[in-house]
Amino acid sequence: MTNSQLELVLVSTPIGHLGSGAGGGVELTLSSLIKGLLDLGHKVIVVAPDGSDLPTGCAQAEIKTIKGIDQPSWQHQLVDAPVIIPNKGVLPRLWDEALELGKTADAVLNFSYDWLPIWLTQHVQVDLFHLISMGHVSHTMTSLISEVACLNPSRFAFHTQRQAQDYSLNSDPIVVGNGFDLGLYQVQLKEEGPIGWAGRIAPEKGLEDAVAVAAALEDRLVVWGLIEDSDYASAIENSAPQGTIDWRGFLITSELQKQLGSCRVLLNTPKWNEAYGNVVVEAMACGVPVIAYDRGGPGELITSGVTGWLVPPDDIRAMTSAVSRVEEINRSACRKWVERFASKEAFAKRVESWIIKNINNRDE
Ligand code: UDP
Repeated sequence: MTNSQLELVLVSTPIGHLGSGAGGGVELTLSSLIKGLLDLGHKVIVVAPDGSDLPTGCAQAEIKTIKGIDQPSWQHQLVDAPVIIPNKGVLPRLWDEALELGKTADAVLNFSYDWLPIWLTQHVQVDLFHLISMGHVSHTMTSLISEVACLNPSRFAFHTQRQAQDYSLNSDPIVVGNGFDLGLYQVQLKEEGPIGWAGRIAPEKGLEDAVAVAAALEDRLVVWGLIEDSDYASAIENSAPQGTIDWRGFLITSELQKQLGSCRVLLNTPKWNEAYGNVVVEAMACGVPVIAYDRGGPGELITSGVTGWLVPPDDIRAMTSAVSRVEEINRSACRKWVERFASKEAFAKRVESWIIKNINNRDE
């Protein structure tokens, strides 16, 4: 091992195995970061639920897969729900393994939005870091993250400033953005094509608003993503004229990017304070302008008039009229923004410098 090589343990989300789609954007974040950290010469050990595989091209990393019952995701519980850990749950088992590995590693990086790893921060000797993947969805989680981050600010990073604003912090947040393996995304410069929407099919993603925009334009909306809530999906289907929604299901990145790139525009309609908005940046990586609500991460990722248009949150009429202004956007400018700010290389360097600055340096 060289002096500058770090041994890093990356702990995945406990709500599904890597590749299942249940982990939403966290899965892609982790996959880009594994590649980016390996390219920087670090040793990477991934701890993830059983069924997970290392992303393609990451054979130099090690993976430890752990059996156990999936953790329920916080965004699908009531905001005042208590902490639940199922019997034989995978979450504590992931942390048994991670803390053992952490005894000899330089740092353990947590990607799971859960009570247990955050609480552990102050109670273990290993250098534990958290990349927080969501904004406020639970009083218990928001209070815990705020309290522990005030005591240990250097141990917490966020994807965007807007996400970090959901937490009561006593210093400027560490913001690391996100990163994408741009070799996997091809730019398509053709401006004609359908209106697209991508994301988990769940109420916080606001698909119904994008469907209303397509219906108002008497157009079709192509939709990609995992149906997490089938009652919600059927209610949306029934709310729009037949044929408005073209359901394409959950696709792997290579196929998703091909189809995304053929769109003239992507609509992004979050109803929550989206921490980042991977699909926004993935569309831009393919040259697709994005029209989004000016809420959460997408409000920081899109430059109105350059890479798309931001419209007031929940304003379906404004979004509908912005669709006609999409030809004012240069598709190459969308890709350039991603190359500059959201490549896996840039992201891995931001994460690396956060960790290097803070290992062996406790805040207290
Ligand atoms: N996604 C995918 N295939 C699909 C639709 C979505 O792999 O057919 C992925 C997409 O690449 C993105 C994630 O699902 O990484 C959604 O992440 P985002 O940050 O947009 O939202 P989250 O689900 O984390 O709230």
